Amino acid sequence: PVDRSPEIQEARLKLPILAEEQVIMEAISENPIVIICGETGSGKTTQVPQFLYEAGYASSNGTIGITEPRRVAAVSMSQRVAKEMNLSHRVVSYQIRYEGNVTDETQIKFMTDGVLLKEIQKDFLLSKYKVVIIDEAHERSMYTDILIGLLSRIVPLREKVDARQFPVTVHFNKKTPLDDYSGECFRKVCKIHRMLPSGGILVFLTGQAEVHALCRRLRKAFPFQKNNTAGDDDKEESVEEIRKFKKSRKRKKVMTLPKIDLDNYSVVPVDEGDEDRDAETDDDIAGSDIDLDLGDGDSEEDEKSDSSLPLYVLPLYSLLAPEKQAKVFRAPPPGTRLCVVATNVAETSLTIPGIKYVVDCGKVKKRFYDKITGVSSFRVTWISQASANQRAGRAGRTEPGHCYRLYSSAVFMDFEKFSAPEITKRPVEDLILQMKALNIEKVINFPFPTPPPTEALAAAEELLIALGALKEPPMTGRLKQQLAAKLSCPISPLGRIMATFPVAPRYAKMLALSRQHDCLPYAITIVSAMTVRELFEEFDRPAVSEEETAKLKGKKARLLQMQRIWAGQGPMQKLGDLMVMLGAVGACEYAGCTRKFCEENGLRYKAMLEIRRLRGQLTTTVNSVCTDAGLYVDPKMKPPTEAQATYLRQIVLAGLGDHVARRVQAEELMDDKWKNAYKTALLDDPVFIHPSSVLFKQLPEFVVYQEILETTKLYMKGVSVVEPE
Ligand code: ADP
Ligand code: MG
Repeated sequence: PVDRSPEIQEARLKLPILAEEQVIMEAISENPIVIICGETGSGKTTQVPQFLYEAGYASSNGTIGITEPRRVAAVSMSQRVAKEMNLSHRVVSYQIRYEGNVTDETQIKFMTDGVLLKEIQKDFLLSKYKVVIIDEAHERSMYTDILIGLLSRIVPLREKVDARQFPVTVHFNKKTPLDDYSGECFRKVCKIHRMLPSGGILVFLTGQAEVHALCRRLRKAFPFQKNNTAGDDDKEESVEEIRKFKKSRKRKKVMTLPKIDLDNYSVVPVDEGDEDRDAETDDDIAGSDIDLDLGDGDSEEDEKSDSSLPLYVLPLYSLLAPEKQAKVFRAPPPGTRLCVVATNVAETSLTIPGIKYVVDCGKVKKRFYDKITGVSSFRVTWISQASANQRAGRAGRTEPGHCYRLYSSAVFMDFEKFSAPEITKRPVEDLILQMKALNIEKVINFPFPTPPPTEALAAAEELLIALGALKEPPMTGRLKQQLAAKLSCPISPLGRIMATFPVAPRYAKMLALSRQHDCLPYAITIVSAMTVRELFEEFDRPAVSEEETAKLKGKKARLLQMQRIWAGQGPMQKLGDLMVMLGAVGACEYAGCTRKFCEENGLRYKAMLEIRRLRGQLTTTVNSVCTDAGLYVDPKMKPPTEAQATYLRQIVLAGLGDHVARRVQAEELMDDKWKNAYKTALLDDPVFIHPSSVLFKQLPEFVVYQEILETTKLYMKGVSVVEPE
């Protein structure tokens, strides 16, 4: 029996899924596969594991496993379920790539989908799990798709959970702002906060820089004194009074706004087919004298600071430190209104309590890859209709809500119905290696829910052959290519070793080659840094004041100075950006990997912690593959010797052999666009060393790069020097 606290019990009983417990449990006991569909926040993630636990699915020899596409969800959901069930983290635990709190006693285990995929390799029957829940399956993340493919041989039966979410009224903008959607978000939040009744606001923007900029603007407009948080009801009431008073003053202002032509101003419910919609509640709101439409907005008064209406503004994005992410789950200080400014992370997986208003810019930032060259770029695009509805749904969790879409209904109708599954969008070499390690040789015959494009499969197979992870077909030239195109090369012994490392095949190859000359600790560190990415803080962002501009400039100068130091001297320097990574991690660990050290030196603390964990995990993996290695993570690692630095460059080249670029010679300069440019084997266009690289000014003749990112130009990142022999 589970001993839940009365408050938890009460909160649970309000969740729609509780009413379906019996139906769900019967479906699960009678069918091998059950698909549970229900609105976000209906309780699927937190409650289904508890139903299973209470029905005896967990025991000393059987765990309930739940996969999540995102690490934050795996961690926070395990904590939430442990709390609800009043059980220790030893029993309700989580495992993400390089971290976890799983014990012998674990009976409910949340993990990322990649972790379960790895476990399938060791135990194809997943015999330690009594039941596996694939959460967020509709999101079609790549590993989840593979898990579904692997688990899909049995016919699924569909069971539906009643969607009992509160109605959300959707307000479209009449006009779609051309580019300043951040400004439009700001104006909309100001209006909501000034004119509409209490209730949290959730804003969807596309990226970290935008999120910060809007947070700063909003905090300036509605400052909130931290020590002014006397928790008594009087205080809250008085703020409510002020708001009412302001509203009455503001009403005049509302009248002077351009009159909204209701025929031309579309307001449609988020789910028109839902008969449970409580029309009365909706009418209540529409009948009040508050103008909920707000209109497309510009208002000069907005920028003025107004401390009588405190707004509690919190950012939320995936690179944000976890303890800061967790803030959104806590109640805002009394007398303030919560406003969360988020990227797409708030669209699913995390349900923020108390949100009544959603402001949706309609855009998302995504990484796009070229199918053949792997060149990637970040692009801001319109979201899908499914995403827009998902975002709107976040407003209806606790009471009827409102979603303000900063685009017109005509634009919405042009959105794609659904977002394309991830597997069709990115390179698949890591996936193919994992599948080959499972002895799925003919990848093309695998029952993917949506198969990746054939070009992407062929590119992956060729790369894995080049890395030596797959057995090469015993012929050459066109015939060999044809065979590779059939995608049926078996895995090699080296490939099996590579598949045990939880990093991309290129990096796994580097690790597999690093036993010589005691290079492993360095290779592990470099690979960890390349895998975690974004080690350094980004200081090139628009500032709101001159003071802030000066501060950012100072921090950037400090980081550049440190990077020159970390780049080392002599042969080490030829490792270029990889030496900078190695030096930065070394210095940070030497200083105890503290937040203070990171903040002072422009390092991202969260990245440094992740690198530390990944180093630990890779070290353990290496020790288990070669039992005589005896490696440990040395916090006082010395810089590599000259010889080691040279070997490390060879090792890097072995993993990134197709990522070599040659500087364009003077005589080849037919066009200005080739000035300081490099040529690569795969691309016709000029590529350049990224300005953030320590080799940016040096322009070596040959370089090897980690990746090419397309912004205004094609830029190589993670660059080191190659010397032809
Ligand atoms: P679903 O998986 O169906 O989207 P969840 O099980 O995630 O729904 O959420 C059910 C409810 O539990 C929601 O109302 C959500 O706000 C609440 N909840 C989830 N995580 C937390 C948390 N860490 N703290 C407080 N409430 C939470
Ligand atoms: Mg969920």
